[in-house]
Amino acid sequence: MQKQAVILYGPPGSGKGTQAELLARRYGFVHFDTGNFLEHVVYAPGAAKNPKLRRERENFDAGRLMTPSWVLGIVRKEVEKIGRAGYSIVFSGSPRTLFEAFGEKKMHGLIATLLKFYGRRNIHPVWLNIRPTTTLKRNSVRKKCAVCGLPRLAGANIARCPFCEGPFYTRTLDKPAVIKERLKEFRGRTYPILYAFRKRGIKVIKVNGEPAPYKVFASVVKALKLPLLRLKK
Ligand SMILES: [Zn+2]
Repeated sequence: MQKQAVILYGPPGSGKGTQAELLARRYGFVHFDTGNFLEHVVYAPGAAKNPKLRRERENFDAGRLMTPSWVLGIVRKEVEKIGRAGYSIVFSGSPRTLFEAFGEKKMHGLIATLLKFYGRRNIHPVWLNIRPTTTLKRNSVRKKCAVCGLPRLAGANIARCPFCEGPFYTRTLDKPAVIKERLKEFRGRTYPILYAFRKRGIKVIKVNGEPAPYKVFASVVKALKLPLLRLKK
């Protein structure tokens, strides 16, 4: 199987994280969750003492965009490691800006790095399409386990994680005020990126994100031409 770089796009609640995890668990992709990665960087021990990281943390907490050149630099370095090691990679929700994706004169973007390690034919932006009402509905009930990170399924009214019994929490990213910011940002920034991919001859795969995650996954697997997996009964 050719190594692939899959880039999942979609509004908050479209299931980017879930689909990326499914690709990781069933097909051995490395899931590069840029939000998570950046959260770890700005919340790392000692980060509060670094004025630069402190500033980025404030941006992160407010749901604002972090400084693009800084984000691009640290993300690219991490992705190079994964590409060099020969793994397929899946991104959930990034690169988020034209600059992060395609760079500018003095700084090449993340796509240039992906082209180097994976080749044009193996870069697949996938757009998980859901209605705005679905975004709001899904995010209003969204919680994650504070210990193991397992998401609480929509409709499961349980207080503790079924895996480790840790407490659930609402991610900063999913608080209502931040969600509105993220939706606005998504529309303003993602559409131009999808257009830029097409312009460069990279096909954008559009998938309906409304059904149950395993059904969406079946569409993703088919679109990526991955070998079909049999469901265990
Ligand atoms: Zn847990």
